[in-house]
Amino acid sequence: MKVTVIGYWHGFPEKDEATSGYLLEHEQCKLLIDCGSGVLAKLQSYCKVEELDAVVLSHYHHDHKADLGPLQYASIIKAAEYPDKQLPIYGHRMDEEQFAGLTFQHVTTGVEYKEEEQAMIGPFTFQFLRTRHPVPCYAMKITVTDGASLVYTADTSYFDQLADFSAGADLLIAECSGYAGEKVTQFGHMTSSCVGKLAARAQPRQVLLSHLPHHGKHQQLIREVLDDYQGAVATAKTGWQYELAGE
Ligand SMILES: [Zn+2]
Ligand SMILES: [Zn+2]
Repeated sequence: MKVTVIGYWHGFPEKDEATSGYLLEHEQCKLLIDCGSGVLAKLQSYCKVEELDAVVLSHYHHDHKADLGPLQYASIIKAAEYPDKQLPIYGHRMDEEQFAGLTFQHVTTGVEYKEEEQAMIGPFTFQFLRTRHPVPCYAMKITVTDGASLVYTADTSYFDQLADFSAGADLLIAECSGYAGEKVTQFGHMTSSCVGKLAARAQPRQVLLSHLPHHGKHQQLIREVLDDYQGAVATAKTGWQYELAGE
């Protein structure tokens, strides 16, 4: 399983960049996890829009779904070339109006996921965990048959169950919206120290800090995580790639 960071900013994209978006590839299948502002433009450096097999949304905040509309327009425009293509867009149904928007004409179809059920999407198996965030949001554990596993926290403050859910992941993509001591947890986000605590308990093979703040030096986030956790930690950048080893 290969992961490519398409966008990683908190809230809004910096110049020529994007908010949350991650491309997953395995056995010819291409999935987009979250579709934030700027994602559609950046995605095309790595994958044609029409090559996507599915999209999975963690929640419906703009920085995770702003480019959904343009993706649906792209699907309409490409429909002349690919008349049979239907793009499934997975989302939760805790917000019926948002969920209804995942289906667009004959080109995209909303598919519900639930916390208590596994979802099989191509060669990927998904499990979901409701996070602590002002609106319903789901962390995801994604595994493939070679044993490789990825956990994406999506947006959340720290809670122990998230650490248990993340245990032993090959790659943990953790949201890190603030530096140690900053007041982000009350808004349903994690600081670097929260991620340090999460990683110390979950012991993943690699941590990737993402959903990054617009101030300070991101290298400092790594140093602050390392206060609580001795392991491999990186900060997200556009085009950062990681091949999950599996067994
Ligand atoms: Zn959010
Ligand atoms: Zn967000």
